[in-house]
Amino acid sequence: MSSIPRLFVHSDLSREGYAALDEAQGKYLTRVLRLGIGAPVRVFNGRDGEWDALIDTVEGRAVLLKMKAERRSQASTPDLTLLFAPLKKARTDYVVEKATELGVSLIQPVMTEYTQSARVRADRLQKIALEAAEQTERLDLPVVHEAAYIGAALDALEADCPVYYCDEAGDDPGAVWGGEDGRAPAMVEVLKAHPARRGAILIGPEGGFSPTERISLRARGNVHPVSLGPRILRAETAAVSAITLWQSVLGDWT
Ligand code: SAH
Repeated sequence: MSSIPRLFVHSDLSREGYAALDEAQGKYLTRVLRLGIGAPVRVFNGRDGEWDALIDTVEGRAVLLKMKAERRSQASTPDLTLLFAPLKKARTDYVVEKATELGVSLIQPVMTEYTQSARVRADRLQKIALEAAEQTERLDLPVVHEAAYIGAALDALEADCPVYYCDEAGDDPGAVWGGEDGRAPAMVEVLKAHPARRGAILIGPEGGFSPTERISLRARGNVHPVSLGPRILRAETAAVSAITLWQSVLGDWT
């Protein structure tokens, strides 16, 4: 892995152009990495590709980079949304970091009947996504939204956006894991049957979806229940698995 630091910046990036770093980034380069003028840095802004740059100016806390050459031209990221019920803090952080590495473009925490975690700090999660995007060498940042109720989050999606609703249970409350009635088909089969250039994956909380939610989810024309196999996965495992399948069948891993 390259030892040259890679940073997300807001400035436009062009040949012989400059990019001003924020205070934390400037401190990281000059104090933590102890880099000085002339040191190489790689930058991206989600619009203009990735550039090789050099530290041009260090004045107190202000650090300015000068662009030298475009390293990679901007590439589009698949239009994949992850809707997930917030979990305990560390597990939510894990979901955001892995969704970023796996190429999700929008991360939407959703409040459901059984969601355990009350509040979600979108600004804190966005920072986790930014650091993961720098590390994973993405050319863009996933957007992390504030939490929304599941109905509103689904309503906000484009009407032609398939929602792959990860459903671990069958409909029979008296049977183990809901028995076989209403059990969802395998996700790979559903992806092949409902291909689309955009998509959304829905992952429930530790307690799963309520019976009412299950009925209302399946009543939506663009929602497709999918199974991730015969075992109950932790929500964070289910998120990684479902995104991996989508990327492999419909995304940019093909
Ligand atoms: N209700 C379960 C736990 C839910 S697991 C129980 O009784 O233990 C948390 C979420 O992960 C689920 O809501 C679902 O979205 C997803 N998930 C876990 N295992 C799954 C599977 N085998 N198939 C589809 N989704 C699964």
